[in-house]
Amino acid sequence: MVVVNGPTAMVEGREVVHLCSNDYLGLSRDARVVRQMKDAIQSVSQCSSRLIAGNHPVLLELEQKLAEHRKTQAALVYPTGYSANLGLVSSIADKNSTIFSDELNHASIIDACRLSGATVRVFGHNSAPELARLMRETKGRKIVITEGIFSMDGDFSELKEICAIAREHGAITVVDDAHGDFVFGPDFSGIPAMFKAKVDVHVSSLSKALGCFGGYVASSSAIRELLINTSRQFIYTSALPDHLCAAAISAIPLATRGHLQTKLQKNILRFRESMESAGFVLGGSSSQIIPIMVGSEKLSVDFSRELLGAGVFAQAIRYPTVKKGMARLRVSLTAMHSVAHIDLATEAFRKAGLKMKII
Ligand code: PMP
Repeated sequence: MVVVNGPTAMVEGREVVHLCSNDYLGLSRDARVVRQMKDAIQSVSQCSSRLIAGNHPVLLELEQKLAEHRKTQAALVYPTGYSANLGLVSSIADKNSTIFSDELNHASIIDACRLSGATVRVFGHNSAPELARLMRETKGRKIVITEGIFSMDGDFSELKEICAIAREHGAITVVDDAHGDFVFGPDFSGIPAMFKAKVDVHVSSLSKALGCFGGYVASSSAIRELLINTSRQFIYTSALPDHLCAAAISAIPLATRGHLQTKLQKNILRFRESMESAGFVLGGSSSQIIPIMVGSEKLSVDFSRELLGAGVFAQAIRYPTVKKGMARLRVSLTAMHSVAHIDLATEAFRKAGLKMKII
């Protein structure tokens, strides 16, 4: 049993440093966001689909703010980031399309590709040359889909190269930026803007750095219209509750000031320095998601248990979420962690790593 308490969590009755949260800026617990949400509560939920019972003004306001944030014409909110991927991809792709998908794309993208009925060509992680080769071999409608920051490795997408190749071949580009949104880029508007890469469609989650709940697609107005009319994950589901939209609206200005991202970057630096000098292999991460590479599935679970005993909650990630033999502990750092939390965690990692011969 786990009860989250910001930078710490109660796990099995004990308070431990929490290194498994996507609440990167700590906004899910910000008193201003919580107050706005409470003030907005009139009911638990609209209890109907938006196409049947209409749109609460707060939903449309949130979409407007998200479109401004991503600098797109429009945005459409879904109940989750998972359903945003499913809803988008199954609307823009069909059996006459080919989707080019990075091999490390998130499960929601994989499921979305399958559901669409399109031919799926998987390219090696971040491999622009392989993408180019596969695209040269393919005729017809093409869609390229990748992530801004990869969710299990914490590395950035090679977005500039990938978008250039996609454009050469007339493909639609889609980026799932769930982990880069509100963390990186100018005005914290995400990875495409950071790399000055022009993408056609952005997908993101409101339950990561924004600390709220829900998902969204930011795109042209034409794509938004298409989704409203054809996306089953939008049409045949209930609207995101108004109070969650109100929470997200109040979180956006707090997530775009920069002070929380500065704190987060300091934590990333401090954690990385201690872990690397202890001898851990951290994969190719450039972000708040840091894999501590272990290799063996069993060893990763034992390592996680050992750390829990030492007051640190870091979950083991194993096959099939990652490839066999690539098990790791996936750490996600937040702006909520203090220097003391980081130091306690890295010291526990060092001791457990030595004991278990991981370093
Ligand atoms: N995309 C990526 C890259 C993710 O990592 C996740 C969730 N971890 C999602 C989409 C799904 O987002 P949500 O939790 O809002 O459904």
